[in-house]
Amino acid sequence: MSDPNETYGEMWQDLGMNLRAHCALLGAIPVMYQNAYLSQQNRPEGMSYFDFVVSEIHGLRIKELVDHKAAGGKVVGTFCLYVPEEIIRALGAIDVGLCAGAEWGYNEVEKVLPRNTCALIKSFVGFKMDRVCPYVESADLVIGETTCDGKKKAYEIFGEMASVYVMELPQMKRPEDFNLWRSEIDRLVAQLEELTGRKLTLENLKAATREVNGKRRALHRLNAARRATPAPISGKDALLASQVAFYDDVPRFTQMVDKIADELEARVAAGEGVAPANAPRVLVTGSPMAIPNWKLHDVIEKSGAVVVADEMCTGSRYYDTLTPEDADTLEGMLDGIAKKYLGINCACFTPNEGRMEDVVRMAQESGAQGIVHYALQFCAPYQIEAHGVEKAAKAAGLPVLRIDTDYSAEDIGQLQTHVEAFVEMLSE
Ligand code: SF4
Ligand code: SF4
Repeated sequence: MSDPNETYGEMWQDLGMNLRAHCALLGAIPVMYQNAYLSQQNRPEGMSYFDFVVSEIHGLRIKELVDHKAAGGKVVGTFCLYVPEEIIRALGAIDVGLCAGAEWGYNEVEKVLPRNTCALIKSFVGFKMDRVCPYVESADLVIGETTCDGKKKAYEIFGEMASVYVMELPQMKRPEDFNLWRSEIDRLVAQLEELTGRKLTLENLKAATREVNGKRRALHRLNAARRATPAPISGKDALLASQVAFYDDVPRFTQMVDKIADELEARVAAGEGVAPANAPRVLVTGSPMAIPNWKLHDVIEKSGAVVVADEMCTGSRYYDTLTPEDADTLEGMLDGIAKKYLGINCACFTPNEGRMEDVVRMAQESGAQGIVHYALQFCAPYQIEAHGVEKAAKAAGLPVLRIDTDYSAEDIGQLQTHVEAFVEMLSE
């Protein structure tokens, strides 16, 4: 394989990246990927697409973004599911998810953020401070949102280093909150029209909505196949597909995921799986797992269980509901977008009963025998909401294991002990 620094070094330099630090970051991924992914047996053949995508994580896709910018297009970075990607795409821009899943630059980060900030926030600030992420460096505009307090305040610091626009997301779902959110969608449209120099129309918004819904449908198909026994795909591989959905080219991604879904449906029909039919089945719910955060799924599956569903932003919250495509006015389309996005059940909302219902429903649909609740340390919304999830799950007869962790490898031994005991209990 050619040296990525030789192939892409000039491009990274032009993006203003810190090449030495970036080299260290990029160098760590193949080892992690080998341990977590390539060591798996009997993976669907279609996953070779994702092996390629990960091997080119800062290469080919970045080249596509750079070419798009050279042709006059814009790149918009986002950190949260609530930012409607249909609108960004309709205006000819490319949206990329910037959530960071690897510990980076904490020494510098902890000079500006408290130590007890969640790993996701510390990492995205660290990536920017050290200039190691070509997605961040390609973005013409970064869109934040008022979800948790940590992100909200971190965007102020991020804004000292990049162009940031923040959407105000309400924290309840009453009619007056919907009105506020609907007006925020209008503000976003105006901001993006100014950035791109284009006008949002019924036609371009419908076309973009169809494309993004196509991606969600493909992910839905892939994940529906996981309900079968034996599971035709590992939870780790399904997680990777959800993670890549945030930055890959939309039509290409949809085509590739549909191809994997075809393969999985054939496996289900033939009774083939990646784990034995009697492997304990678990659902994972909680904070998002940005790429390359594969730690918990890896520990669970190496303990002999299989993850059959993910109630997370890197999971069902991303693809479960579609944006209505059939309104006949631009206003009607934007109303549908506002409604669809406000329907997402993030722990930043109160009350958030919808998430408890989703967790129990998904566990039942997927045949999960237990639930692993995952929260990043210092993520108050998910750590505190674990109580409600546990209560709802127990009422439905589902045992829960609560895991609070971060991106480091330091607690892996401890995680293994807890997960193995839980898996053993499920298999009794
Ligand atoms: S967990 Fe909540 S704040 Fe975080 S990305 Fe998901 S929707 Fe956004
Ligand atoms: S993981 Fe929790 S604390 Fe961290 S950004 Fe998301 S909601 Fe905020």
